[in-house]
Amino acid sequence: MHAFIIGIGDELTLGQTVDTNSPWLSEQLTALGIPVLGHLIVPDDRAATAAAVRQAAATTELVLVTGGLGPTQDDLTRDALADAAGVPLEERTDALAAVATWFKQHQRTMSASNRVQALCPRGADWLDNDCGTAPGLRVRIGQATVYAFPGVPREMKAMFLRHLVPTLAAQSGRVILTRTIRTFGEGESQIGERLGDLMRRGRNPVVGTTVSLGVVSVRVRSEASTLAEAEAALQATVADIQARLGNLIYGADDDTLARAVGRLMKERDMTLVTAESCTGGGVAAQITDIPGSSDWFRGGWVVYTNALKTSALGVPVKLIEKDGAVSEPVARAMATGALERGGADCALALTGVAGPDGGTADKPVGTVWIALAVPGAGGPAVTAQRVLFPGDRAAVRDRAGKTALNMLRQALLRGGGA
Ligand code: AMP
Ligand code: MG
Repeated sequence: MHAFIIGIGDELTLGQTVDTNSPWLSEQLTALGIPVLGHLIVPDDRAATAAAVRQAAATTELVLVTGGLGPTQDDLTRDALADAAGVPLEERTDALAAVATWFKQHQRTMSASNRVQALCPRGADWLDNDCGTAPGLRVRIGQATVYAFPGVPREMKAMFLRHLVPTLAAQSGRVILTRTIRTFGEGESQIGERLGDLMRRGRNPVVGTTVSLGVVSVRVRSEASTLAEAEAALQATVADIQARLGNLIYGADDDTLARAVGRLMKERDMTLVTAESCTGGGVAAQITDIPGSSDWFRGGWVVYTNALKTSALGVPVKLIEKDGAVSEPVARAMATGALERGGADCALALTGVAGPDGGTADKPVGTVWIALAVPGAGGPAVTAQRVLFPGDRAAVRDRAGKTALNMLRQALLRGGGA
């Protein structure tokens, strides 16, 4: 079985609303083992909708339509489905009763226009909607089953999960499990090379990569006829990926770099402080997004001006004058200053040129110095790294923060401070 998804609405074709229904449905269908052959957006137009539905129904067994089921004149999905099926619309008393009940339960008066929501193409089934007034529709067109859901994402999702998932899961007899492994530190092509034959097309579990904001994600999708088989195959592939990628992996699914750092800090019973210039507190923000980070994060400084780098963290004026604020000595002095004043075990310091202005020949926009202090044999061991990040101001700041957290993560894994 294959599926096709159609989104209906002038707001979508005008670009005023981004279609989020189709991607969500695609993800759900894929997880159910039903490949999606395409998405199409059409305006609130009866003929265009009917043509789109007819064409989709001629090529796929399952067609999902969202939008255009409301009570207003631009809601034409009912009419278009009747046209596509070649049948008239009929008022269904049970559907009308359901619409009326919804208004009663929500203590609202039903207006005359809501009556059209009880219209169904002859021979179609209507689908109950718990979250709103518009019932959905199920219509047979040739070999295809066409489902129409309201456009409101919350209603669409609830109806899909209630009316479609049980049927589809029972039909497919397949179990699909997915896992997303998160990596940082190498590009997508390097990760792809390390994964090698695991990414072969047609392999089960299938392995694919995507990149977003510097994070390369490795998606694994395991399909089998039983849960145990799907789970065993997934575990084996994940273990293979772990062997190939090692410490490049910081977590899975919704994990973040800050969360991964937090786990290591807690395991080692260590504390962290931050000293940030170009990231303006972004690293501290990522850390404090995590509940319970106060167990290991003491706090940090946003030292944006040279004067504050000196007065708050004791960075010597001479260093700034000689090497500039974006330099290795200043990054190191920020880290040690923060470490001493914060009474922590580890410190991260960042100073850089986020742009768009302020770049020079030897320190172009995107240049960031990151210093890391961890406990060493004879006191704090400070390392510093110069990185040149591509992209705009937001990208430079984001990547700098993540790189700093990843430096700390790698140092902890190597046993820094243990
Ligand atoms: P409708 O069912 O056509 O009356 O749509 C109701 C509302 O749902 C619209 O005003 C949009 O805000 C939203 N909506 C409709 N279709 C989509 C879609 N494909 N993706 C996201 N939101 C949508
Ligand atoms: Mg609409």
